[in-house]
Amino acid sequence: PLVLGIETSCDETGVGIVAGRELLADEVASSMDQHARFGGVVPEVASRAHLEAMVPVLDGAFAKAGVRPSDIDAVAVTAGPGLAGALMVGVAAAKAYAYALGKPLYGVNHLAAHVAVDQLEHGPLPAPCVALLVSGGHSSLLLVPDVTGEMTSLGSTIDDAAGEAYDKVARVLGMPFPGGPPIDRAAKEGAADAIRFPRAKLHDGTLDFSFAGLKTAVARWVEARGDAGEPVPVADVAASFQEAVADVLTRKAVSACREHGVTDLVIGGGVAANSRLRALAAERCASAGIRLRVPRPGLCTDNGAMVAALGASIVAAGRPPSSLALPADSSLPVTEVLVP
Ligand code: ATP
Ligand code: MG
Ligand code: FE
Repeated sequence: PLVLGIETSCDETGVGIVAGRELLADEVASSMDQHARFGGVVPEVASRAHLEAMVPVLDGAFAKAGVRPSDIDAVAVTAGPGLAGALMVGVAAAKAYAYALGKPLYGVNHLAAHVAVDQLEHGPLPAPCVALLVSGGHSSLLLVPDVTGEMTSLGSTIDDAAGEAYDKVARVLGMPFPGGPPIDRAAKEGAADAIRFPRAKLHDGTLDFSFAGLKTAVARWVEARGDAGEPVPVADVAASFQEAVADVLTRKAVSACREHGVTDLVIGGGVAANSRLRALAAERCASAGIRLRVPRPGLCTDNGAMVAALGASIVAAGRPPSSLALPADSSLPVTEVLVP
């Protein structure tokens, strides 16, 4: 099916168009520049930016894909989780298109879309698989019998998300928001074993994570350096912090596969763009006999293609569409893939 996907859960206005698992267009406008000086996304500013960007990004996606709106078979949109006002802009736009074109509307889960997007690159997701979802607001291990309808949580962070830890540590190191990309770059010049930062919950026997203590440990270490009047070795701190995050995430992901007898792991969400996480996951999956799938970095951060990809799978699975009265749900649980 030819599916239009609309994403507005945070600061990216994303519109994707897919034909089944073939990606035809993936247009994204970000309002990050307007949030950067606040050190985080300002909800009101994000909503306004979505309003301004929505029609141009939609037009751009149709032009790129070379299809007309009337060619579309279905409209998929992120119904949650995310910022309420931001979500509402995308949901309203999707309803308008679906209603005007007389096509079915599918309100989908942003987190499931972060997992489903891999299908655009590597084909249908093996069933079942384990998904490591690591983003700005979430860090979870999921058992995925079927990405179009069934995902159960095996464990998740008890405090900060992995991306949140990157963003907070970046601030401590004087780097811009969002912190993932600058830390990833700085870490390439540093030594991952320079500082031994704590790996919380590594041997606690659960599949949960905790990153708040790590963030605090980095802040204290940097502060102590400052107090001693010594320069902060930014690259070493970045590399050592990144190693701690990647170490815990990959060990627990492999444990999740082992415990549930699953041989396929997929990683999704903005932090899946991280070069060290990708390399360490590849290494550890290879030695554990687990097949690993990670989408290219551009598809890991928020975009409309991931929503279209999940929408296309849902249409293909024959699930009933959402109501045109579809609500935006800022705290939609990861287990609810499709909102009725
Ligand atoms: P959620 O998906 O939980 O609703 P979100 O949509 O805001 O949150 P994403 O866009 O999926 O989050 O991911 C953004 C996060 O990914 C940010 O915290 C950012 O720092 C992080 N990130 C992006 N690129 C990298 C990278 N190369 N290394 C590490 N982290 C990264
Ligand atoms: Mg973003
Ligand atoms: Fe996201």
